[in-house]
Amino acid sequence: MAKKQFKAESKRLLDLMINSIYTNKEIFLREIISNASDAIDKLCYMSLTDDSIGMNRSDFRIDIIPDKTARTLTIRDNGIGMTMAEAEQNLGVIAKSGSFAFRNEMTAGQTVEENEDSDRNGAEDLSIIGQFGVGFYSAFMVSDEVTVISRKYGEAEGVRWNSKGADGYTVAPCERETVGTDVIMHIKPDTDEEIFGTYLEVWKIKALVRKYSDYVRWPIRMDVEHQERFESEEKNDDGSPRYEYKMVTENETINSMVPIWQRSKSEVTDDDCIAWYKEKNRDRKDPCALVRVNAEGAVSYRAMLFVPGEQNENVFTGDNKGGITLYSNGVMIMEKCDKLVHEYFGFVKGVVDSPDLSLNISRELLQHDRQLRIIGQNLEKRIKGELEKLMRDDRPKYEAFYKNFGIDLKAGVCDEYGRYKDFLRDLLIFWTSEDKQITLKEYVANMPESQKAIYYASSDSLKHALALPQCEEVRRRGYELLYLTHPVDEAVLQSLMEQDGKRFLNVVTDDLGFETEEEKKAAEERDIENRELLDFVKENAVEGISRVKLSNRLASRPCAMTTEGNITLEMERYFRYGPSEQYRDLRATRVLELNPEHPAFAALREAYENDREKAGKLAKILSVLAGISAGDELENAAEFTDLVAELF
Ligand code: ADP
Repeated sequence: MAKKQFKAESKRLLDLMINSIYTNKEIFLREIISNASDAIDKLCYMSLTDDSIGMNRSDFRIDIIPDKTARTLTIRDNGIGMTMAEAEQNLGVIAKSGSFAFRNEMTAGQTVEENEDSDRNGAEDLSIIGQFGVGFYSAFMVSDEVTVISRKYGEAEGVRWNSKGADGYTVAPCERETVGTDVIMHIKPDTDEEIFGTYLEVWKIKALVRKYSDYVRWPIRMDVEHQERFESEEKNDDGSPRYEYKMVTENETINSMVPIWQRSKSEVTDDDCIAWYKEKNRDRKDPCALVRVNAEGAVSYRAMLFVPGEQNENVFTGDNKGGITLYSNGVMIMEKCDKLVHEYFGFVKGVVDSPDLSLNISRELLQHDRQLRIIGQNLEKRIKGELEKLMRDDRPKYEAFYKNFGIDLKAGVCDEYGRYKDFLRDLLIFWTSEDKQITLKEYVANMPESQKAIYYASSDSLKHALALPQCEEVRRRGYELLYLTHPVDEAVLQSLMEQDGKRFLNVVTDDLGFETEEEKKAAEERDIENRELLDFVKENAVEGISRVKLSNRLASRPCAMTTEGNITLEMERYFRYGPSEQYRDLRATRVLELNPEHPAFAALREAYENDREKAGKLAKILSVLAGISAGDELENAAEFTDLVAELF
């Protein structure tokens, strides 16, 4: 029989398939099953108006028949089938618009390796094609020969199409008893790198069907062997029944068919969705928010998304990230689509199903991108809405969510120079006392008339932040504070810049504006008066202090360590132990503040005048104490204890 040649562009695609460029070869099964499902759709649709077809909805099915002896995998459907002309037409060319996008990326004769090196975009697009589907040709990723035996509805004769790959195909009439199509894939021999034989294993096929084709609406059936227990005729010695086991083969439906998200809210309750989520994600905890969308418009889609209550750590894979799975009419296109929502909502899990996302590359890829963006934007609004609702209605639950995923939101605020900060700011909460967290809006709403700014204190723990001496002055005035406890918090406030027109002020480093002009002047004069003593303290203090000054902000504390400039002590510590080598030696500019109203200062002055040696010791002790209360480590504990003991 004379071989016919594939059209040029089909040949190129075929070459790629045969040379197995796609890492996820397993998608071939999804592609062949989708075609079968489409073929059934067509015949089923016709049978609605044409009784002579003699088929009921329940008669339609897809069979998977692995045959290890012949090393073939057959996908059989009783759909519409193909005539000989159609088989030639459909299996000999790839869809026009798809080939257009494809041709643009691949230049003649270029291998994929070259392409990856010389043209990153080309390589990326290739992987996208892999995700979006490649149709019938994908069979050649795992087969070295494909035979299609089909009989079109209304035709007396069938067609046999056969191809061993790029060198062409044959077509010939053949017998086929019933209407429908068999796609028979002759699975490639195993190689050192790849065990193609696994595609003939029932467990593997089942897993692939569950992964990619679980929601195909026609039953996918396969012979599955399992152990069955039966009562033996013989009894046990004590007369009790004896059981034996044998392997039985049963023809089972291996897909669950109806995607839960395709059903309306009246059919499926939120609780049903939650139960589904828990089973799918092996999460024992309820999600803390659920978003269900049925959108029709520029892009139609259904979505069912979950905000997990806790980080669901998968102990086996360490994979605890969320992820949205993309479906097109129940057929999985992409397991984790990171194009839908931004990273700050990366914890969201669930599914999006849109018939507008074509499985095949019959549309330009860019168009998918645009559709995904539209869907993504809408979903982000809905997710935010649900989180706000949770925050309003069940604050403890929101706080639990925030404990796990607040960091993603905060990182989102800082990302891309604050591009998303206004979208996210209302979702942030901060500690405002030992046991209370509030939003920035709430903080501003609580502000008394006299308060001009938002005050915050930052430390490595809530306990330390609460204990910062500079906070006392603010609290004494009846103002609330935000206590920042995570290294990224300060960057978050810097990125937000303001809230409802109010600035953020760091109680440790910023001028809080509490002092009147007269007070400021008096303080300057006082510093000049005490200059000699302050210089003496600096000389005797621990190393690394750039300035010593007097301060009115210390309330009942004798001293405090503050900083000047952009680097705070928290940032210094973060960088010292943080992941980046580059900033390890970054140091804050330390300022030692002394409280002139405190008895310690009076004792220091007294010693300075009468006993310089003692004054030197006191200066050193005060500087160490200030460091400790700001979270510095006590570097030489023995020396410090001796120093204190010498004073008695
Ligand atoms: P696409 O599905 O995007 O059209 P494919 O390469 O997967 O691209 O399939 C090409 C065409 O071959 C299909 O559109 C369909 O007309 C035909 N076809 C493939 N498989 C079957 C089948 N099982 N039954 C009937 N027609 C089929």
